[in-house]
Amino acid sequence: KGKAYSCMIRTRVPGGKVTAEQFLAELDLCEQYGDGTVRLTTRQGFQLHGVIKGNLRAAIKGINASKLTTLAACGDVNRNVMACPAPYKNNSVFDAMQDMAYAIAEHLKPKTTSYFDLWITDEEGNKTNEAEFQPVEEPIYGKVYLPRKFKIGIALPEDNCVDIYTQDIGLLGIVENDQIIGYNFYVGGGMGVTPSNKKTYAALAKPLGFVENDQVLAVAEAVVKVQRDFGNREDRKQARMKYLVNNWGIEKFREKVAEYLGAPITDPRSVEVTGIDDHMGWHEQGDGKLFLGVNIENGRIKDAGDLRIKTGLRKILETYKFEARITAKQSVIFCDIDPSDRDAIDEILVEHGMKKADELTLIRRFSMACPALPMCGLSVTESERVMPELITEFEEELARQGLQDERISVNMTGCPNGCARPYIPDIGLVGKAVGKYTLFLGGNSLGNRLAFIYDDLVPLGEITSRLSPVLEYFKEARQAGESFGDFCHRVGKESLQEKAGLAAK
Ligand code: SF4
Repeated sequence: KGKAYSCMIRTRVPGGKVTAEQFLAELDLCEQYGDGTVRLTTRQGFQLHGVIKGNLRAAIKGINASKLTTLAACGDVNRNVMACPAPYKNNSVFDAMQDMAYAIAEHLKPKTTSYFDLWITDEEGNKTNEAEFQPVEEPIYGKVYLPRKFKIGIALPEDNCVDIYTQDIGLLGIVENDQIIGYNFYVGGGMGVTPSNKKTYAALAKPLGFVENDQVLAVAEAVVKVQRDFGNREDRKQARMKYLVNNWGIEKFREKVAEYLGAPITDPRSVEVTGIDDHMGWHEQGDGKLFLGVNIENGRIKDAGDLRIKTGLRKILETYKFEARITAKQSVIFCDIDPSDRDAIDEILVEHGMKKADELTLIRRFSMACPALPMCGLSVTESERVMPELITEFEEELARQGLQDERISVNMTGCPNGCARPYIPDIGLVGKAVGKYTLFLGGNSLGNRLAFIYDDLVPLGEITSRLSPVLEYFKEARQAGESFGDFCHRVGKESLQEKAGLAAK
């Protein structure tokens, strides 16, 4: 009998799409084996925390029994494929993105049978599904898998809700006549940074080319294989594909992908990301039904005092059996709602202390935090546990300055690994030491620009006061319609620091 190691179990959910039964299974498992909470992740998956090592098999078997899996949710393989979760039915565009996420996830799934040997055999070691135990080759990953984790996301130009530029491969759907005719591929995004290692950096993905629908799997596979064969296996801190893309340059990378593909890569279509939607609140689906986005602060589903998120969500799922979608901002969408059920569902939310989307400030809706302490062994300081109170401080400061209606995105992490994508929003906070954060400004909620370091080692209790003069400057000098992040980017770090009385760093 060893130590009672506490583990985290991540479930892979392509496009964040789950049935009511699958969602309820995660809620049951967190109570049976976890710490009683479920976390909706920034990659549209589920996480169970606090699972004692001895309960791992039972919990993973339970997830597989619900026809979800933890296979390839972690590790040096392609992880959960993200896609815009909006369930609009008025054209085929949104279903096409979801279907593509699933197809890519299946295509790039490791073919290992060890997973099933380890986790799915029954108590006596009997295999419960022989088909899953047949030895197979790994046609894409080979014997040594990838040098590092690999991430893919799919979105539309007018709604970059999955932050495609932060992915190893970002796909931007090109729509003509209400149909996706193909995707612009972007390659080499990634957030993780090691501050002590000057050779590490956050990077946005660069345009690779336009790919028609029927070639998407082949091109994705070719990109993965190029990273497999040429990614850095000597230095794990240089192993993400962003370093390969940047070291080679996009032209050389494109040529190599074309060589692996056996066909040239077409130039990317000329499109820009122009919008972002968190999909919260009530929406018409386009088929007479409604969908509802419910904001779950930092993705943590739990009951605490009057805020009984877990019980409220359980009641909705058990009563109506809705399909659900996990969003990239750690929240949930319920789909296919009959308009006659709308008031009753609103009542369930109110009864359980949950706020409707229009009762929340935009800064709270557009904030997210990674778990950090005490869940994550890599964290150097707090994130999820301090974020709600910090957002309250921001709300008060914004209201004091008459800026409460601004859409300002805030992403916070407890270390520079960047799991909550902190290097791209209007305000990024990255744990640097206990209780101290690097403060990034100048990104935006569209996720298409990297932020710059504005201040460093800022104590948690001083973050709002350090931002106050910057917000004042924004208020007095912004251009018409300019967002906070765009303003910070335009005037630049030195100007902001000078205005705030900070010596330029
Ligand atoms: Fe852990 Fe760091 Fe990721 Fe946060 S960003 S979950 S602290 S590894």
